[in-house]
Amino acid sequence: MHRTDPHHTSKPRRLAAAALALGLVAGGGLAAQPAAAVGEGPNYGGNETVNTSILHTYDELVAELQKQDAKQPAMELEVIGQSVKGRDIHLAKYLSNPDNPTILYLTQQHGNEQLTTEGALDFIKSLGTGKMKGVLDGVNILVLPMLNADGAMGDVDFSLDDYIASGDRHLTRYNANEADINRDHIDRIEPETQALHENVLGAYDIDYMVDLHHQGSRSEADGELVSGSILHPTTPNVDAEVLEGSKRLGSIVYNAIEPTGWGHLGKYVGGSAETIARNGIAVEYDISTLLFEMRGMSDHENPGSVLGQKSNGYLIKQTVTTLESTARALSDGSVEAADTTFWDTLTEQSWAGWPAE
Ligand SMILES: [Zn+2]
Repeated sequence: MHRTDPHHTSKPRRLAAAALALGLVAGGGLAAQPAAAVGEGPNYGGNETVNTSILHTYDELVAELQKQDAKQPAMELEVIGQSVKGRDIHLAKYLSNPDNPTILYLTQQHGNEQLTTEGALDFIKSLGTGKMKGVLDGVNILVLPMLNADGAMGDVDFSLDDYIASGDRHLTRYNANEADINRDHIDRIEPETQALHENVLGAYDIDYMVDLHHQGSRSEADGELVSGSILHPTTPNVDAEVLEGSKRLGSIVYNAIEPTGWGHLGKYVGGSAETIARNGIAVEYDISTLLFEMRGMSDHENPGSVLGQKSNGYLIKQTVTTLESTARALSDGSVEAADTTFWDTLTEQSWAGWPAE
């Protein structure tokens, strides 16, 4: 949800520079923490390496999903449709009991936001290990990684010549038709959006959804660059109970990420349009949605949007932590008691300005 995001287009300002300086001071206080907490980790700055070759290709992703499907008795892999270019879109399903709550994790509506998919893949692997033992007894899980497979592979009908990353391929926000899937949740013109609505949202009884994205690399809250920002539905048409569920889900994520030392969350600033998943899906299906916008994109034409790959490990870990903590909280019922009052004081993120050279 970045196209209208003011943080991308703002020019450097003196006030913002002061906020950044504060952030550096605060970061200095974390000397005992790992050297690169996500928020204060390196920028691209024209110097950092941004190489897309370390990311899973679509084919590698599918191969890994099929491998896990063969290995994990609880997992079922479904093809829910095809992209513009004919790539199968996969849904990993763990449906243990219809009486359990069901959560959907969605990644890469925007093809250039791939670390969320890397994290989702690690999460799927972890569901087959002892680490997540018993969790599946209390929750049904659906994982839809890389909805925009054509954009992720740069296999699109428009030029990506201006994109920054090096590597075997470019990744772009849009699908092959240069459409933004996350503005298509009302009209549903694109095949990827149609597949999601017809064969996932309309086909399963889903209670919760986390919609995973990446934003620009220069957003801050409380004087520190954020590792990500979260937001619940903000349309007036959302049911009050559904909204409360979204806020509880956000509470679980906030309390799992914020104390880690490497994570720092702000409140995302978003509008009320129901063409986007966070609002539209909450209203249409009564699903409690949570948007998570992580720091820095995998590729972009704007240097302020991409992030050096030294932060990749933390950002993937942030995804895994988000998915694991919410799955556990739904499974053991603790989500019902989650304290949502933190939303009242969660600082809205703002543009931090460019770093001084
Ligand atoms: Zn996005």
